[in-house]
Amino acid sequence: MNGWFKPLKPDQIVNNIQEIDFTGLKQAGIKALILDIDDTLIPRRMNDVTPEVLDWVNQRKAEGFRLFLASNSRHPSRVNYFSETLGVPAAGLGLKPLPFAFRRALKTLQAAPAEAAMIGDQLFTDILGANMLGIYTIFVKHLTPETFSPRVWMRQAEKWVLDRL
Ligand SMILES: [Mg+2]
Repeated sequence: MNGWFKPLKPDQIVNNIQEIDFTGLKQAGIKALILDIDDTLIPRRMNDVTPEVLDWVNQRKAEGFRLFLASNSRHPSRVNYFSETLGVPAAGLGLKPLPFAFRRALKTLQAAPAEAAMIGDQLFTDILGANMLGIYTIFVKHLTPETFSPRVWMRQAEKWVLDRL
């Protein structure tokens, strides 16, 4: 494939966060997980932490991973709620794919890019931004069907790229 697409290529593609092989990530030297919230951990329209997500986060902590929530959400109260409920530091208004939120995550977690993995549902923000910094990338298939036009177009563009990777 054309080299132009390389920054958009995830290292792994999974159907959901439950599918990720964390033993394998650990063996690969990953210590820090940077997590998108909306449509990665929970559906975008859901407002509460589910027991499953809480469980998943606690398992990662028990395995020794350091976690950070990097969201592009414009609702700070939402991001704060997830941060407090899950006991994970967070940055809202992340402006992904710009590097700010990723850099803040690495600094907070005291991890080098090679020791971190980004888990997110958007190629053009989560995956592109993390790839540019040399962070390992895991693309999760999004949890909500899209109906709002700009998102539908974005998903079509994502699919177009994914089909060509
Ligand atoms: Mg998302």
